[in-house]
Amino acid sequence: MFKFGILTVSTTCSEKPQLDTAGPKLEQELLKVFPQSSVNFKEIVTDDKKKIISALQRAVNGRNCDVLFTVGGTGFASSDVTPEATREVIEKEAPGLTHAILSKSLAVTPMAMLSRPICGIKDTTIIMNFPGSAKAAVECFGFVKAAIPHAVALVNEDLQKVRKTHHAVQNPEFVPSKVKILAGAARNRKSQYPMIDVEDAKNIIQEILTATQDFDEVPVEQAMGRVLAEDVKAPQPIPPFPASIKDGYAVRTEDGAGRRVVRSVTAAGDQPQTKELQPQEIVRISTGAAVPAGADAVVQIEDTALIETTEDGSEEKVVDILVAPKKGQDIRKIGNDVEQGTLVLEKHSRLTAASVGVLAMLGFSSVKVYRRPLVSVISTGNELCHPNETLKPGQIYDSNKVTLLSLLKSYDYAALDGGIARDTPDNVKATLERAFDRSDVIISSGGVSMGEYDLLKQVLIEDFGATVHFGRVNMKPGKPTVFVTLDYKGKKKTVFALPGNPVSCCVTSLLFVIPTLKRLEGDALFLDWPRITATLENIINNNDIRPEYVRVTVRRNPDNQFVAKSTGNQISSRLNSMVNANGLLLVSGKTQQPAGSTQSILLFGQLL
Ligand code: AMP
Ligand code: MG
Repeated sequence: MFKFGILTVSTTCSEKPQLDTAGPKLEQELLKVFPQSSVNFKEIVTDDKKKIISALQRAVNGRNCDVLFTVGGTGFASSDVTPEATREVIEKEAPGLTHAILSKSLAVTPMAMLSRPICGIKDTTIIMNFPGSAKAAVECFGFVKAAIPHAVALVNEDLQKVRKTHHAVQNPEFVPSKVKILAGAARNRKSQYPMIDVEDAKNIIQEILTATQDFDEVPVEQAMGRVLAEDVKAPQPIPPFPASIKDGYAVRTEDGAGRRVVRSVTAAGDQPQTKELQPQEIVRISTGAAVPAGADAVVQIEDTALIETTEDGSEEKVVDILVAPKKGQDIRKIGNDVEQGTLVLEKHSRLTAASVGVLAMLGFSSVKVYRRPLVSVISTGNELCHPNETLKPGQIYDSNKVTLLSLLKSYDYAALDGGIARDTPDNVKATLERAFDRSDVIISSGGVSMGEYDLLKQVLIEDFGATVHFGRVNMKPGKPTVFVTLDYKGKKKTVFALPGNPVSCCVTSLLFVIPTLKRLEGDALFLDWPRITATLENIINNNDIRPEYVRVTVRRNPDNQFVAKSTGNQISSRLNSMVNANGLLLVSGKTQQPAGSTQSILLFGQLL
């Protein structure tokens, strides 16, 4: 049941409260529709923006109102400022509510056009502006009352209720998960998945997933970063006409050095001059212009002298060619840069800015590229809070989702945000279903350890009939990494269920996910991250028996040699250890790498 507030905005009623009929009428109606609710805030203020703001804030700060209605002050008169005051208080607008109020009011009276209600949310209070007449206020409440329970549950994050409603609304045929949470004492104490080595894990992925054969035809402007699905041959030579390399004069080498008459001028973009150049004639020419017929060299302007101009002095008439030209000098012949029919870009290569330029140069407006896998990223955990919400005790902000989405983006994959799955079998199942409906590859974080709420594998197996190809990898961080494939509505889906610790999920996505996406996309040139040899600047100890992927910063020292340094405390929850990392150094279990030693480092980021 709900806590309501009513703020009547009317200068008249604030002087004579007995004239306020809308407030009491609305109160009556609220309690009739939601019988066990209470109206915890009732005030009347004058049409004064500051006073309205202050009253709204008082009601919100008291945390005693789920929904706060203002009554009055929404019209066109200069004193009507309730919407303006409301706008200053709310953090989020709720235009759907506003729209519902207006559109339904319009069906009652066209005069509703002259009402300017605003609805929105501040903290956990939903604020709605209603008109000042009792009849209209009650009518408006009637238009929104059905949405109130769910809206209040949402702003209060009443997960249980929200989940139920979401399931019911989004998927009326939702089949609950078959998974039952095992009571604490009944849960498994040992993982049933064998621990495999990183290289074996990579091989398994490679064997199971094959590159796509599907392609898209995309405009050249959008092709950068995509992988070519066809060999590109030059349909025409570049340049397509003999072009001048210099600003100067097109000449006949036969004429040698000496004074010449400037017959005409030709600039870049002009029609090629087809009239044959006669002995002793030259044509003034600019870089990129077509060399006139009969000319077989260009003499740069620096090697000439002006002898005579036209009578008005504006044009050159006679020019001295100071250096005898050589045949073909400063002319790019047809096909000089690209011969017609040559293979310029190879299938399976990733398009760079320059390769996109080559396509444009050859006149292609679109190109065939391999289809990218559709990727969704989901987080799991009851403790996770959206970054725009206020943390409650025991909660943490969800950082993995935005990290993974951004990491993918940095490698050209625009993934979808698949939301946060809460730790119940039904919610995990519903979240996965939504992701499977929208994507081919799902990257999740969390929910794969040994806790009773680590439900992901169970839901994947029991509800989706998934095959777990591996469920534990001998590495630190990242031991619980899971690789799964399944058939969903006749289509193959892949899940990388990564560990929840922020560093673990970054490292495993770099080692397993990004290279896989590149391969799935047909990128034949990417085999794995390159390795670079660098001198270690600090000692690194691995006290664990598992091999550790230590995050390092690789850079050039003042002597121009590559050096690598650990990014500090390597605990898997400390995301800061990734912040300046561009490399991973694999340190075997129970070993130490001394400062000054030479190391081979996997380079996944930019070299600093
Ligand atoms: P789990 O794998 O679900 O047991 O999570 C392991 C640890 O990672 C726990 O401390 C979680 O709170 C934390 N964690 C899980 N998911 C996230 C996330 N999306 N963002 C930040 N930390 C997370
Ligand atoms: Mg968890």
